[in-house]
Amino acid sequence: MSQRLFGAIEAGGTKFICIVASGPGQEIARARIDTTTPDETLGQVVEFLGQAASEHGDLAAIGVGTFGPIDLRRDSSTFGYITSTPKPDWSNTDLVGPLRNAFGVPVGFDTDVNAAGLGEHRWGAACGLDTFVYLTIGTGIGGGGMMAERMMHGLVHPEMGHMRLPRDPDVDPFEGVCPFHGDCLEGLASGTAIAARWQKPAHELSADHQAWQLEADYLSLAAVNLVCTLSPQRIIFGGGVMQQTFLLPMIRERTLKLLNDYVRSPAIVEHIDSYIVTPGLGDNSGIMGALALAMDAHEAGL
Ligand code: ADP
Ligand code: ZN
Repeated sequence: MSQRLFGAIEAGGTKFICIVASGPGQEIARARIDTTTPDETLGQVVEFLGQAASEHGDLAAIGVGTFGPIDLRRDSSTFGYITSTPKPDWSNTDLVGPLRNAFGVPVGFDTDVNAAGLGEHRWGAACGLDTFVYLTIGTGIGGGGMMAERMMHGLVHPEMGHMRLPRDPDVDPFEGVCPFHGDCLEGLASGTAIAARWQKPAHELSADHQAWQLEADYLSLAAVNLVCTLSPQRIIFGGGVMQQTFLLPMIRERTLKLLNDYVRSPAIVEHIDSYIVTPGLGDNSGIMGALALAMDAHEAGL
């Protein structure tokens, strides 16, 4: 039997990465499409997938991991839509509809971070776990993952990047960049926040800059909140800011301090190095997760 082909789309605010693949490491085609207007961008996505299908064979299913907020409720009239995003032109945009119309195949759909978490669960740092969190610290901050081996959906979907944290104005007078909350986690600790606070892009700050202890403190507060609310078996920190590799040990140490021996699992107390980790799939969690969404949609016949 010839191998099934899947389309996978990682939809971001800057770019859409699209691949056609029969499985992990079996990529046949790839495109990077700028995020401009929905018509233009989705038109190019459909064109790329259509071209790949005509060259290599029909797609069995498509998976989409996207920026949001999005509507994940399959019984809703706006299922598959980006809903209320502040990104110009993109609120109330149907992502799933145009793909279904063009290809007539099952379409798996989830948040970018849930997709990345699924990718990590299938092939990366969350293999074998049933409850874990994937956080990305990039232009913004987002979080997703699984609870009891189900993708985290709930009422809408988690918005971990917007959790509120204590901020001491004497230590950090910066009021944050979140347009909705100011000093939420994303407002204080995203790459955008770092650049605004220190007037310099995050990657240009030296390793001994005071920015990093503050960053580790905020990310540790987030980790502690997640430990105490969701009881994850592991927390994965991805995204561009985590390329500063010295951050991870700082976050581990500070998280242990903040927990103060209250949550006594050996997974945390004795094995913090395998509890707070970076993605097993490196930069590929998102696109591999979209591929896993496609494979699951095919299985489920969605
Ligand atoms: P996005 O969030 O847009 O999908 P990334 O996860 O790559 O993309 O995050 C981009 C953010 O990460 C930017 O704010 C950028 O300043 C920051 N960043 C990228 N590379 C580094 C680096 N080496 N060190 C610190 N921050 C970085
Ligand atoms: Zn916010």
